[in-house]
Amino acid sequence: MTDKGNRPNILFIMSDDHAAHAISAYGSRINQTPQLDRIAEEGMRFDNCFCTNSICAPSRAVILTGMYSHRNGVKTLRDDLDGSLPNVAKMLQKAGYQTAIIGKWHLGHGGSNDPTGFDYWNVLPGQGEYHNPEMFEMGEPRKHEGYVTDIITDQSLNWLSGRDKTKPFMLMCHHKAPHRKWQPDKKHAHLYEDVDIPEPPTFHDDYEGRSAAVREAQMRIDRDLDEQDLKESPPEGLTPAELKSWKYQRYIKDYLRCVASVDDNVGRLLDYLDEEGIADDTIVVYTSDQGFFLGDHGWYDKRFMHEESLRMPFLIRYPREIAAGSVQEAMALNVDFAETFLDYAELPAPSHMQGRSLRPLLGGQVPPDWQTAMYYRYWEHLSRPHRVGAHYGIRTTRYKLIYYYGEERSANGAQPEIRTPEWELYDLRNDPLEMNNLYGDTSCELTVVELKGQLEELRQKIGDLE
Ligand code: CA
Repeated sequence: MTDKGNRPNILFIMSDDHAAHAISAYGSRINQTPQLDRIAEEGMRFDNCFCTNSICAPSRAVILTGMYSHRNGVKTLRDDLDGSLPNVAKMLQKAGYQTAIIGKWHLGHGGSNDPTGFDYWNVLPGQGEYHNPEMFEMGEPRKHEGYVTDIITDQSLNWLSGRDKTKPFMLMCHHKAPHRKWQPDKKHAHLYEDVDIPEPPTFHDDYEGRSAAVREAQMRIDRDLDEQDLKESPPEGLTPAELKSWKYQRYIKDYLRCVASVDDNVGRLLDYLDEEGIADDTIVVYTSDQGFFLGDHGWYDKRFMHEESLRMPFLIRYPREIAAGSVQEAMALNVDFAETFLDYAELPAPSHMQGRSLRPLLGGQVPPDWQTAMYYRYWEHLSRPHRVGAHYGIRTTRYKLIYYYGEERSANGAQPEIRTPEWELYDLRNDPLEMNNLYGDTSCELTVVELKGQLEELRQKIGDLE
């Protein structure tokens, strides 16, 4: 007998900046991801999974703690996670799970900011390197030869092979890819060489009617990609429009090459579970810390509350509870992940956690009081290099209302610049690409009043009143 009971293993695979619209299970127009699609085909695809703060470190802190940014303290990239805070790994560890985190951590380095709650940790310092990365294994630096996505998978497989098979495990396998500066491995270096990747429908957005925060953000494909992003010089004599298209191809091909390696390596982990005979006993999640603009609105990067950045891919397989090939439309948030894992570990959710277990949704049931609106907040005000204004807002199943409040309100902020506050309203049913800002349109006055009321209620409930 083992002490596992019915508690499943949890394999949580998270990449960095991998947008759902670059996964074929999500209908990608630009690439194929056969291994990620296996998780969707054998499990469930969430179509409305969102992050509460679309940037790396803050989203990771939300996932680990089950608390929003203002509660876990990681509001911006400059904030480190306090290792003494409770987190889901500590709770699972205490309940008899073996816990490990391998790959990107990005929540501070050394002393009180190293991972806590993990029996084993082996993480990249900061952003880490794509080629020949250094990793810190339980605090000890070690240089690795090879490509980071392969190495993180190798280390994950090593840990899985050496685990105590009498206990359930939670492994967080966190890829660095496909984060900027999008450096592919040799194997995929020539992928897409002879094809043109389609440009997105909003590639030539002129931002008419949108806020200054949108118009002035510095993440434009045609203007803001640098030499390290592009890696080669453009041909002579291109018109500005041709140059923009050329830069997009340079950017998106390297991005997708990095994704291809993630896809291959997820396949290696899935194969391992099959070979071990534990695929039925293991919850497998594939997600990313947030979405990303893939030329949408003429941009790269994230931060904004717009759909491409807000949406997280969330594919989950657990044959004992999830019907193969199912799709869930109900809203899920990164703040819900921790409580979902606790639920499967037969642990109660502590009162400081602010999400809700997704387990009923995985069984195909949507509770009548399930969330139909979510609260979002991006805290960094005009931080360099992207200069996106701080904002918060609400997304319902139909609408999105965004408030750019025009000033720095995070303790670690560095930008004293004040802007005139601005609002944006989008009708996602009639304008899914968010091109038409309806704020100020007299036909929407009642909708705005209702949404502002709902937004205030959410802020009160979550306790984010700064
Ligand atoms: Ca990220």
